[in-house]
Amino acid sequence: MAAELIDGMAIAQAVRGEVARGVAEWTAGGRPAPGLATILVGDDPASAIYVGGKQKACAEVGITGFDHRLAVDVEHDEVEALLRELDDDPRVSGILLQLPTPPQVEGGALTELIAPHKDVDGLTPVSAGLLAKGRPGLRPCTPSGVMELLRRHDVELEGAEAVVVGRSDLVGKPVGALLLAANATVTTCHSRTRDLAEVCRRADVLIAAVGVPELVRGDWVKPGAVVVDVGINRTEVGLVGDVEFAGARERARLITPVPGGVGPMTIALLLRNTLEAARLAADASPAPR
Ligand code: NAP
Repeated sequence: MAAELIDGMAIAQAVRGEVARGVAEWTAGGRPAPGLATILVGDDPASAIYVGGKQKACAEVGITGFDHRLAVDVEHDEVEALLRELDDDPRVSGILLQLPTPPQVEGGALTELIAPHKDVDGLTPVSAGLLAKGRPGLRPCTPSGVMELLRRHDVELEGAEAVVVGRSDLVGKPVGALLLAANATVTTCHSRTRDLAEVCRRADVLIAAVGVPELVRGDWVKPGAVVVDVGINRTEVGLVGDVEFAGARERARLITPVPGGVGPMTIALLLRNTLEAARLAADASPAPR
């Protein structure tokens, strides 16, 4: 029987609704709305679309957007000065530097300057360390989105064999850490993994985050497994995931489509992180006298 589809659009919408209600409750107590500052350097059309989407999503849930657009030839130091300003600005709960940046601006180094409690992308070394240590902190958006999809479908993770294909800082590593925190038995695969097919066949929960169209073949999927495809590959036939969908759907119990699976979750979790960041800032500041 074909697997049930995990509807990322519907789940992302539900998360956005929860964030909107959370923001309304937050401001009803007289507090200022959470704020998200985005920084876009240059005029790359794809990045401009991403940033525009994030700002629009903020407005829809009542988060205040601070949309900083800098010229393509801006100096590194100017971006650094802006970041430091935003770190100190109490109206700004979360900061996001859109990557990639032009060559003279060291995006990776700048990201590391973001204060941990404003790191709504969850990608700074401090946030990664907190996740690795199992301590509270802001988690990366796409991996949190994957976990949310599994949670909303009541996927049993405790003791489950979870296989993650991909070990990037952005997706593979944090997904592995989150699955481990949920008491799954986690195997992380990468380009040097021997016999990837056999490792995948062990998985009760199989996560593909590779960036190679349909790398994970249908017959690598254990019958009854849950398959989450993070891949977004633009091909001649349109958007394709990292999993051979038709074959995998025949064997899986639950599967995400591409598009419409993990994709919509990232912005939804960014909004949730921004609300969480506002709460963290309030917890960190001294109580009013
Ligand atoms: P990445 O940084 O390029 O990492 C890819 C990982 O896949 C690496 O760990 C690499 O191994 C591994 N890999 C590559 N070829 C492989 C092979 N033949 N066999 C086994 N492993 C292989 O990519 P990423 O940033 O994690 O993104 C992965 C995919 O997710 C992309 O399609 C991206 O577009 C998509 N994505 C989607 C969202 C979203 O839905 N919102 C967000 C982020 C990313 P090595 O480490 O050994 O090189």
